[in-house]
Amino acid sequence: MSRVAYVNGRYELYGEAGVHIDDRGYQFADAVYEVIAVIGGRLLDEEPHLDRLERSLRELAIAMPMTREALKVVLRETIRQNRVRGGIVYIQISRGVAPRDHGFPKDTAPSLVVTARRIKGASAAAVNDGVGVITVPDIRWSRADIKSTSLLPNVLAKQTARDAKAFEAWQVDENGFVTEGSSTNAWIVTKDGELVTHPADRSILNGITRLGVLAAAKRQGLKIVERPFTVEDAKNAKEAFLSSTTSHVLAVVSIDGKAVGNGHPGETTMKLRQAYLANFGLAGGEFR
Ligand code: PMP
Repeated sequence: MSRVAYVNGRYELYGEAGVHIDDRGYQFADAVYEVIAVIGGRLLDEEPHLDRLERSLRELAIAMPMTREALKVVLRETIRQNRVRGGIVYIQISRGVAPRDHGFPKDTAPSLVVTARRIKGASAAAVNDGVGVITVPDIRWSRADIKSTSLLPNVLAKQTARDAKAFEAWQVDENGFVTEGSSTNAWIVTKDGELVTHPADRSILNGITRLGVLAAAKRQGLKIVERPFTVEDAKNAKEAFLSSTTSHVLAVVSIDGKAVGNGHPGETTMKLRQAYLANFGLAGGEFR
């Protein structure tokens, strides 16, 4: 449960907090965001998340509303006021409030909202038994590398997954390649033992967990190939998995109802999950 939200310089009661109806985040999804995991009261990979936030803002020519150091203070204060030890902190920055007009407003300050709440994270069953994914066409714009709040295709993809009782929807581009999930990055381990994931070009969000998993894989001496893979490649892979801030690493044991490998979480996947978490000094990925 959230108690308090930071909105443009003030800590407000969550139930009463709001932005103006002419906020460009509300009108145009002219805004970017970040989600950072909080475990044991600590922010995981805070700097890489803030690096990505600043990059998203630069790409859209939205100004940082305050210095990074000041933002870090706001994150901590919002976490403290919401009594979050295990959960997430959410940051959203929009181009600000101005009478509705598509072009950028002049001299408008960006809006900043920060919220924090407890979450449980993936269930023990999801971690131990793996999850199923379905595939959907990737209908997003060609700048999926920007973490914008313009998430309608992702919302529709996730709901399609929920309706199919799947954990996630893997988005497939016009050439048949899996780009990424609706809110997670997608990976396979081939029968030759190669770790494969889509390159971090403009068609995917370069997940901070993705970067952590790549670093863990490097430490383990795995052969890493950043190249697109097809749905067929994934269905024939030895293992598959997904990664994100809130899921960490979860084995994908079925794709469109077809078992991957033996239908159980793979060894490489589980080792990578452990190694990714161990880098933060964590034995398990529970949000507590
Ligand atoms: N892809 C998309 C589209 C996402 O929304 C997310 C979650 N923010 C990810 C990948 C995973 O990124 P991260 O590891 O930084 O949470």
